[in-house]
Amino acid sequence: MFCSLFTLPTCHCLSIYSEHLPHTLTLLSVVRKPGSAMEPAVHRVWPRVLQRLLRRTPILPKRSHSGCAEHNAAPASARSRHVRPALLVSRLYQPSSLRDVGQDTRLQGEMTCKSQRLMHQAGLIHPSSPGCYYYLPATVRSMEKLVRVIDQEMQGIGGQKLDMPSLCSADLWKTSERWDLMGKELIRLKDRHGVDYCLGPTHEEAVTTLVAHQANLSYRQLPLLLYQITRKFRDEPKPKFGLLRGREFYMKDMYSFDVSEEEAHQTYESVCQAYARLFSRLGLRCVQVQADAGNIGGTLSHEFQLPSDIGEDRLLVCGSCSFSANVETMSSDRSVCPQCETGTLVESKGIEVGHTFYLGKKYSQVFNANFSNAQNKPSIAEMGCYGLGVTRILAAAIEVMSTEEGIRWPGLIAPYQICVLPPKKGSKVDEVAALADDLVHALGEALPHLRGEVVLDDRTQMTIGKRLKDASKLGYPYVVVVGQGALEDTPRFEVICQQTGETMFLSKDGLLNLVGRVETV
Ligand SMILES: [Zn+2]
Repeated sequence: MFCSLFTLPTCHCLSIYSEHLPHTLTLLSVVRKPGSAMEPAVHRVWPRVLQRLLRRTPILPKRSHSGCAEHNAAPASARSRHVRPALLVSRLYQPSSLRDVGQDTRLQGEMTCKSQRLMHQAGLIHPSSPGCYYYLPATVRSMEKLVRVIDQEMQGIGGQKLDMPSLCSADLWKTSERWDLMGKELIRLKDRHGVDYCLGPTHEEAVTTLVAHQANLSYRQLPLLLYQITRKFRDEPKPKFGLLRGREFYMKDMYSFDVSEEEAHQTYESVCQAYARLFSRLGLRCVQVQADAGNIGGTLSHEFQLPSDIGEDRLLVCGSCSFSANVETMSSDRSVCPQCETGTLVESKGIEVGHTFYLGKKYSQVFNANFSNAQNKPSIAEMGCYGLGVTRILAAAIEVMSTEEGIRWPGLIAPYQICVLPPKKGSKVDEVAALADDLVHALGEALPHLRGEVVLDDRTQMTIGKRLKDASKLGYPYVVVVGQGALEDTPRFEVICQQTGETMFLSKDGLLNLVGRVETV
């Protein structure tokens, strides 16, 4: 009875009614108890209670809850029919026309590399001030996926996530002597009391102080690996290359505390392996090179570099063995590999996406980060720190994977996996338009991991060709065209796999089979 009145949605949509949920659920449980003495009475009372509830609070608000974007685009009629509404391209906030930046002379000078140009063109980023960007919704979707992959890898080696203040006390930085050492790169500010702060570019001081404050840290708790994924700030003299060299960016920074140098080296090695797994899952070729520890300090350091022509780091890579190093760490006239002593070193360029440092006791000594050892005596922890440029990985991946015309993503972190194109309105094949809706629905029903990953390009006033071009620029891993082939007895769909450039004609089952294997995170 009440279902017809309320058109109670399937459990997946219940969260829309979150404000009413406690009442609704309570009443449901009473009503549904079969044979209960209360049942007839509740049945009489229930519609009135419900109507009052409905009057008092607007049900089905236009701005729906967060976390389930599909609902945002749904017309109310679709919801009441229990149909899972599609994500519509016409409703996605990507406020850039997909025209070529090359045609816009105002922007030409500002575009310093391919990823910046493509991301701007696709409405993924919008410039604010030099080196600062709005990250638009599709970028945030991709970044959140990347963060999930990073979380999986860091937690896989025992990392524990925390979040430290961006506003860092100058006292800590003066204690480590980096307040002066960092020079103009550090963004400094004063509070109303005239006390100095900086916006943290890295958090060795902060995390070491935190650990030092724990009076009873035991050797049994080590290795301790703490990490965060937060905004970092660096006053770059010349911000450029879009998200590759900004003044405000996301970084993952992890800090390790170990009982001995030997164990610290093991931790260091396990982090390097986790980084290698991460880049392999993203399908990115990454080289680990010996590096200079710079102003972070320490005695052992590696960079993780994605080979690219626009890279600002010069690398020497051995043609015969696995040796590679940043040019800065080697005498410049060296051409023979120091590891195998036979191979020739070849210079190439790379984008630094990660950096690891073995710090020893550099910070733990200064800030007194002690633990009690097996003999119950205080002992100073051995430290390491490990960075990953989150926004930089995103931009660098686009830089190395994309074509000149369109973005290509690491599949795992593409903002959306599939774009479905219905035919142009009024065209000869217009009659199959409904199949596109059915397809989107079927994908969500059959493949739960793809829910929220399928968009419908409902701009049917545009030709298929025009929309295909846009889809190619945005780089959805799979584009499905509902066209001529859908008229056949067993409808067939044109499926373009953008990463390989392959085109296939598949039935609905064939398509489900293909995209069922798509990995999501
Ligand atoms: Zn070699």
